[in-house]
Amino acid sequence: VIRRIAIVGSGLAGLTAAHLLKEQNLTVTVFEKSRGPGGRMATKRVPGGSADIGAQYFTARSPAFIRFLNQHAGEASFGVWQGRFGYQNSAGAWESFPDEKRYVGIPRMTAVTRALSESVDVRVQTRIERLVPSGQQEWTLQDTDGENHGPFDAVIVTAPPAQAQDLFSNSQLPGLAEELREPVRQVQPCWATAAYFPKPLEQPYEGMRCKDDVLYWIANNSSKPGREDTGQWWVLHANPEWSRRHENSSPGEVAEEMIRAFQRVTGSDAQPDDRVPHRWLYAKSTATDTPGFCWFDDHRIGLAGDWLSGGRVEGAFLSASGLAARILADDT
Ligand code: FAD
Repeated sequence: VIRRIAIVGSGLAGLTAAHLLKEQNLTVTVFEKSRGPGGRMATKRVPGGSADIGAQYFTARSPAFIRFLNQHAGEASFGVWQGRFGYQNSAGAWESFPDEKRYVGIPRMTAVTRALSESVDVRVQTRIERLVPSGQQEWTLQDTDGENHGPFDAVIVTAPPAQAQDLFSNSQLPGLAEELREPVRQVQPCWATAAYFPKPLEQPYEGMRCKDDVLYWIANNSSKPGREDTGQWWVLHANPEWSRRHENSSPGEVAEEMIRAFQRVTGSDAQPDDRVPHRWLYAKSTATDTPGFCWFDDHRIGLAGDWLSGGRVEGAFLSASGLAARILADDT
């Protein structure tokens, strides 16, 4: 019987699984390598405010996702971003995206995962390096400081595939590592830069998907609800190809080039007063046709995460809720 569960990763997938399993009286412990929860629903503190440097907004097409957020994160932690959204068509002309509810955390993206982590046992700054079999059908988790955690009856891994693969290789689970080696599982890098403009820029859209050699997306972060910036913070994301080519470039040079591209795309010659670059080694999944989640019954190990379910925030929720249901079905 599965009673004690370890979850590796406190992004939306890890926290979703934690809540759904805890609700059914399982004992859940979440391990997170970073200083705080949230994963790629990330916000960076910047002078005078904050900027969402990872996920820009999320959809909630599935009613189950909204219900989950209302119940577990609380209505105050998120809301609709009432912006105008456009994209550059193949001829380079701007067109508006169809209307859709685009949600964001309030007052910053991390508000959602922050709220979700409040009632969950999350051990931050704990990077799990290895799963060690212990006792009968039990796992102990070893972190990079050599500390052991557990035992647990089952483990859910929500790390991006390359990191999950390392974990399985270290744990003498070659079959599971192999499972993650397929190219379809790749997650692409992304350079992000937050740029501060003291005077508001006049732009037709708050969020723009660009067709550019450098940039993929630009957004007026200060236009999201609950942000109280004086001036405007814009968030720029480079496209995957450019990000890969510049994976090892200096952050300062990357920011410079991204600002130049921003000026080219927006036709504005405004110079930012401040710029804060951030490199994501694993940003977005290329997967489209995906299994949703994996459950290795023989090992009592599960895999969940956006990369198994369409590569977005809502996909992370769907993946983790599918896996939680699978584990609970087994358990009864
Ligand atoms: P993550 O959030 O990556 O969580 C995994 C967690 O595991 C991380 O916190 C990591 O630190 C931790 N971890 C990894 N290995 C270990 C280990 N060994 N031990 C302990 N902890 C470990 N989605 C949208 O829906 N809309 C968008 O506009 C959007 N834009 C994006 C832009 C960028 C630049 C990026 C980076 C992502 C974007 N996404 C967007 C994708 C979205 O952020 C993800 O789909 C979602 O946040 C993934 O959640 P997750 O829980 O699956 O993974």
